[in-house]
Amino acid sequence: MTTEQPRRPRVLAIDDSDLVHRLLRARLRHERIDLHSVHTAEEGIDAARTLEPDVILLDIDLEDLDGFEVLARLKADPRTRDLAVIFVSASAETMDRVRGLDLGAVDFIGKPFDVTELRARVRSALRTQRLLRMLSQRAQLDGLTGLWNRAYFDDRLSKEISGALRHGSNVSLVIADLDHFKRLNDTYGHPFGDEVLERAAMVLSGGRGQDVACRYGGEEFTIILPGTAAEEAVEVADRCRAELSRVEWSDRPEVSISGSFGVADLTCVAGSPTPEGLVKAADTALYRAKSEGRNRVVRADPADWPRSIAG
Ligand code: GH3
Ligand code: MG
Ligand code: MG
Repeated sequence: MTTEQPRRPRVLAIDDSDLVHRLLRARLRHERIDLHSVHTAEEGIDAARTLEPDVILLDIDLEDLDGFEVLARLKADPRTRDLAVIFVSASAETMDRVRGLDLGAVDFIGKPFDVTELRARVRSALRTQRLLRMLSQRAQLDGLTGLWNRAYFDDRLSKEISGALRHGSNVSLVIADLDHFKRLNDTYGHPFGDEVLERAAMVLSGGRGQDVACRYGGEEFTIILPGTAAEEAVEVADRCRAELSRVEWSDRPEVSISGSFGVADLTCVAGSPTPEGLVKAADTALYRAKSEGRNRVVRADPADWPRSIAG
C-alpha cells in the first residue's frame, strides 16, 4: 500500500563506445546494481523514461546529440527530471564541468575513470537518491494514520482520471466521513478520537490491493478505485461500512462507531470528468448519506447533474 517494494538500484549508462560499456560492466560487476547500457542519445532518453533508473551515467561526447542537450531534455521532462545524472567526459575543461553541473547533473567523472572513484561516485549518487525518495514519500503520508495524505490524493486522483480517460476505462471515488465524531472526542477525549481514526484507517485500507486509501482531512477519508464502476465501489464501501460498525474496544465496550459514505464514478460527473467534478459528485452523495440517517452508503445520482445525461 504505502511502502514500495525494494528493488536493486538501476544504473543507466549512455555512451557511444562499446569499450566504455565493457569497462563499466567489469568495474561495477560487484556492486549491487542493475546496469543497463545504451549507445545513443535518443535510446538514452527513451530508456530514462521507461526504465526509471536511479542514476544515469551520461557521456557528454555522444554522436547523435550533444550530452548537454540530453541533460537539458531529461531535466525538462517531469518523468525524468529527478533522476540523478553523473556526466562522464574526457574533457578536462573546467567550463564543461561547470556547464554540466549548472544544467542539473549531480556529479562529474573524468575519462579514463579511476575504478575506485567511479564506484564511490555511483554509490554516493544512489545514497542521495534513496534519501530524496524517502523524504518525498514521507511528505505524502499522513502522520497519524500512515495513509496517503491529501496532497498525494489530489495528485493520484488526477493521474487516475487522465489514465482512465485515455484508456476508456472508469475510476470510482469513495468519500467516507465518521459519524458524530465530535461527540466521541468530547465524551472520551482527543487521544481516544485519534485511536478511532487509526482504526478506521486500517479498515478503509484493508480492501483490494489496487485501491488507494487516503486521509482527506480530519475524520474524512477517501478511497480511489482504479478501473472500477460505481456499482462495484458501492459494494467495497459497504463492506468497509459494515466492518467499521463491528469494531469493538475492549476497555470501552459501550462505544460503537459508524461512517457515512458517498460513491461516484466518472459517469456521475457532468461534462468532461475532472478531479473536482468527481470529488463534488461523491461529496454530494455523502451529504445525502448524512441527511438520510448516517451509517450508510449512497451512490451519486447522475440525475443530480442534468448536463451529464444530456451528454
Ligand atoms: P457528522 O456525523 O455530521 O459528520 O458529525 P461529526 O461530529 O463527525 O462532524 P464535525 O465536522 O462536526 O466534527 C468533526 C470533528 O473531528 C471535529 C474535530 O475536532 C475532529 N477532528 C478532526 N481531526 C481530528 C484529529 O486528528 N483527531 C481527533 N481526535 N479529532 C479530530
Ligand atoms: Mg467531517
Ligand atoms: Mg463526521
